[in-house]
Amino acid sequence: MATVLHLTGPVLAGPDEALDELWVIDGRISLTPPGPGHDVETIEGWVLPGLVDAHCHVGLDRHGAVDAETSEQQARTDRDAGTLLIRDAGSPADTRWIDERDDLPKIIRAGRHIARTKRYIRNFAHEIEPEQLVSRVRAEARAGDGWVKLVGDWIDRDLGDLAPCWPVDVLTEAIAAAHEEGARVTAHCFGEQSLHDFAAAGTDCIEHATGLVDETIEAFARRGIAIVPTLVNIETFPRIAEPAREKFPDYHRHMLQLHERRFATIAAAHEAGVPIYVGTDAGGSLPHGLVAQEMELLTRAGMTHTEALASATWGARDWLRRPGIAEGEDADLVVLDSDPREDVRACATPRSIVLRGATVG
Ligand SMILES: [Zn+2]
Repeated sequence: MATVLHLTGPVLAGPDEALDELWVIDGRISLTPPGPGHDVETIEGWVLPGLVDAHCHVGLDRHGAVDAETSEQQARTDRDAGTLLIRDAGSPADTRWIDERDDLPKIIRAGRHIARTKRYIRNFAHEIEPEQLVSRVRAEARAGDGWVKLVGDWIDRDLGDLAPCWPVDVLTEAIAAAHEEGARVTAHCFGEQSLHDFAAAGTDCIEHATGLVDETIEAFARRGIAIVPTLVNIETFPRIAEPAREKFPDYHRHMLQLHERRFATIAAAHEAGVPIYVGTDAGGSLPHGLVAQEMELLTRAGMTHTEALASATWGARDWLRRPGIAEGEDADLVVLDSDPREDVRACATPRSIVLRGATVG
């Protein structure tokens, strides 16, 4: 007879909901003990639903698509950091095979990035012009798992600064097309103007969102547009901008300003009620497995430890329409040495990780 896991808790099933214990039977969560005749293995500690990285790229490195072996290594690194659910924010590699692997995290894909011609990192995106946007968005909506990822702004070398990539009317039509296909839309946006445009066009989410100002914060809060700041990535803005210092001084200065005000920007959005989720942007230039670091940075942007934790657990799972800790659901769990609601750094070194009912890592 299969071994049953007994997790003795506290089991944090919600921000204000601590259960004493749970069991894992045949890969699933049980809130009641099994009948007699099972071998029971006990794991003590603070139990959380598997962490969520809502901006991660599997199958990608700084040069573009990577092979299956490297993709597997990336997914395993995330898993061993406790990330058991990934929203993949764009990948040129076909990583569908990971869905067949019980030992790797679950992935919600956004297809491949959609960017304007020569307005993004080489080899990452479908690079197109506005007249192709609606049909490309439809195609990526069908290729993904309920999300489409656009590059909303990037340096315009003629202008020498960040500038929006898409006219608002085309964007509005493209986002409507995604919604018709049952997909939500998110976009990479660093600057200010693209945020006005995407809010007006009906986007569901924005990545980075460093250019938020009072007016767009108000619009995002009113429309329920979520943001995934990826503060671990924003930390690198000075390095991203450095090569442009001489040739594109306005862009360079702009990036440094956005970097300088990053904590104030995210704090103002949080204060206004904009939904915020944890994302690391692993896979482009950042390493995988930084989810606990991102949570800690969010606490520096005005979130309480419990709020930052919710952004990578209960709240993120609700938003992505995936279950957390509930009777009969897949046992995707992280066990910690101390209470992460007191200090999210507890998430950095999980004691035990349970994926689809099996201990891994
Ligand atoms: Zn990214």
